[in-house]
Amino acid sequence: MTDSSAVIQGLAALLDDGRLKTDADSLAFWGCDRTKMYTPAPLAVVFPKTVEQVQAIVRYANEHRLALVPSGGRTGLSASAVACHGEVVVSFDLMNQILKFDATDRSVVCQAGVVTQQLQQFAEAQGLYYPVDFASAGSSQLGGNISTNAGGIKVIRYGMTRNWVSGLKVVTGAGDLLELNRGLAKNATGYDLRQLFIGGEGTLGFVVEATMQLARTPKNLTVMVLGVPAFAALMEVLGAFQAKMDLTAFEFFSDKAVDLVCAHSNVPRPFATATPYYALLEFEATSAEVGETAMAVFEECVENGWALDGVISQSETQLKNLWRLREDISETISVFTPYKNDISVVVSKVPHFLEDIDRIVSAEYPDFEIVWFGHIGDGNLHLNILKPKELAPSVFFERCKTVNRWVFETVQKYAGSISAEHGVGMTKKPYLEYSRSAQEIAYMKAIKQVFDPNGVMNPGKVFD
Ligand SMILES: Cc1cc2nc3c(=O)[nH]c(=O)nc-3n(C[C@H](O)[C@H](O)[C@H](O)COP(=O)(O)OP(=O)(O)OC[C@H]3O[C@@H](n4cnc5c(N)ncnc54)[C@H](O)[C@@H]3O)c2cc1C
Repeated sequence: MTDSSAVIQGLAALLDDGRLKTDADSLAFWGCDRTKMYTPAPLAVVFPKTVEQVQAIVRYANEHRLALVPSGGRTGLSASAVACHGEVVVSFDLMNQILKFDATDRSVVCQAGVVTQQLQQFAEAQGLYYPVDFASAGSSQLGGNISTNAGGIKVIRYGMTRNWVSGLKVVTGAGDLLELNRGLAKNATGYDLRQLFIGGEGTLGFVVEATMQLARTPKNLTVMVLGVPAFAALMEVLGAFQAKMDLTAFEFFSDKAVDLVCAHSNVPRPFATATPYYALLEFEATSAEVGETAMAVFEECVENGWALDGVISQSETQLKNLWRLREDISETISVFTPYKNDISVVVSKVPHFLEDIDRIVSAEYPDFEIVWFGHIGDGNLHLNILKPKELAPSVFFERCKTVNRWVFETVQKYAGSISAEHGVGMTKKPYLEYSRSAQEIAYMKAIKQVFDPNGVMNPGKVFD
């Protein structure tokens, strides 16, 4: 028996029967996320069903110096859940139960493998609302959302996943079980360790359970899509609406994105006028007055030349179709093997930042198609470079890497982030220094050492 088969047998003994897989299809399926830059090559995939099994796996990994890769819905975009060096993938697919709901606290205790949409639907059934939302919500899991501090389309009103986590049960890289914050709204008893695991990309330990908060259900959500002539005008539109009303979303996308989505699915174009950019905004039309205010601001935008055309949703179907213009972009462009950048600056700096980035990208990628979209109301832009059909992926990614340096130097100049919400993983690891100082990175490494002394948790992700 080889060493690795003995190790695999030992691991299998910790799990229920059949909960360890080593067949090639399973290794390829669970060994990757949505990035296409690395070839999955895990040693095995395991499916614990209990917290005790997760602890046993971690202790075993420490004993045998095995690398563990936590795996949620594998919708990540930074190769943070990719296992390409003989690691053991720990999938939370079987820990997917909603354990407890408390109406007074508006809290739900969930296992890490609960799918985001499952929590959204559970909240709806209680007459409440889980506001973190994005196009992959039907597959992503809470453990993954928490470990990436996922954002999405409602951040402008509700904030990131972090805002909705009031308690965490984690198994650290040392194998200890910690219960962090226990659902409290207020708790001033020293360091809030929960926050380290939120956005930790599985490098400190496993999230096994989370207490999530719910909100009241928004009333009569209404969407407007505006055709906008220039990047700079997008921010004028945002400012004009925010001066008069509260928005639940403010997204943008380019004409190229609309062309691709409309060609790919049966989504109608928002209106006949062709414009280079589109703003999608959403608000609660709680009264006729709010609707009138929105129309008045729209007219102000047209008078100022910030908007060329617009449409407001009149029905649930129209609202869904308008949202699909934005929400279908990622899936639509995935066939082009896009190279994704997920960058952010504070909102006030967006216009100048965008001008600079646009100049670099137009000069350096003249032969590549660029699709812009993003959560511009949060200062977060998704810059997607589409791979030309004839170019080999390796050549394409190399060229993207060259331009990355210039893009990230600009991010640094504006004190922005090289990853607003997708995480660092492996794809952004070489660029971490553009957003974090050497001192900060040294502190992060020291923290990892405390929680994961033998480095078994997701090695090679975020930093080396
Ligand atoms: C079409 C599309 C649209 C998207 N839109 C958005 C968006 O608008 N906003 C946004 O923020 N993201 C977006 N994403 C990215 C992705 O969906 C999120 O990052 C999501 O939170 C990942 O969840 P997951 O369960 O799929 O995690 P995975 O991809 O499985 O893992 C992500 C990270 O979390 C770790 N992890 C997973 N489970 C655990 C656990 N139980 N304990 C510890 N660590 C764990 C993994 O090791 C990895 O580091 C999008 C992705 C796609 C494909």
